[in-house]
Amino acid sequence: MAPAPRHIALVAHDNKKAELVEWASYNKGSLAPHTLYATGTTGTMLEFETGLKVHRFLSGPVGGDQQIGGRIAEGRIDMLIFFWDPLEAQPHDPDVKALLRLGALWNIPMASNVATADFIISSPLFSDGYQPVRPVIGPRDWEDFKGQQD
Ligand code: PGA
Repeated sequence: MAPAPRHIALVAHDNKKAELVEWASYNKGSLAPHTLYATGTTGTMLEFETGLKVHRFLSGPVGGDQQIGGRIAEGRIDMLIFFWDPLEAQPHDPDVKALLRLGALWNIPMASNVATADFIISSPLFSDGYQPVRPVIGPRDWEDFKGQQD
């Protein structure tokens, strides 16, 4: 039986969007079976350029990064490909930091550049159903919480 689709978020700052689109085009076959999410502009570009179906959140600077972070905390997104720009300050830097922080906290695979994204997508773990350990944090039972949300 094929492993359940992964829920993969893709985000790129403006100077990195072309790189992400190129990476996603090259890996279209590997990405297609999974459920893809993106911040607004990144998602529009990905859909237009690759034909992949992408669930689009708000644009990053107006809340999209936070929407993705929230879903990571809820266990609804389990991988993040985030090509952030190391050479240009972002007006929404606090949101960027918060998203990276939540990805680290919840132990999801995260790639901030093409090389790491290549390692992740070509790893045997990507396709064999591997699920990272989800840390136990706080007093609240996670399954209860998830049950209340759906
Ligand atoms: P965008 O957002 O895809 O809407 O450009 C990305 C970001 O800047 O976080």
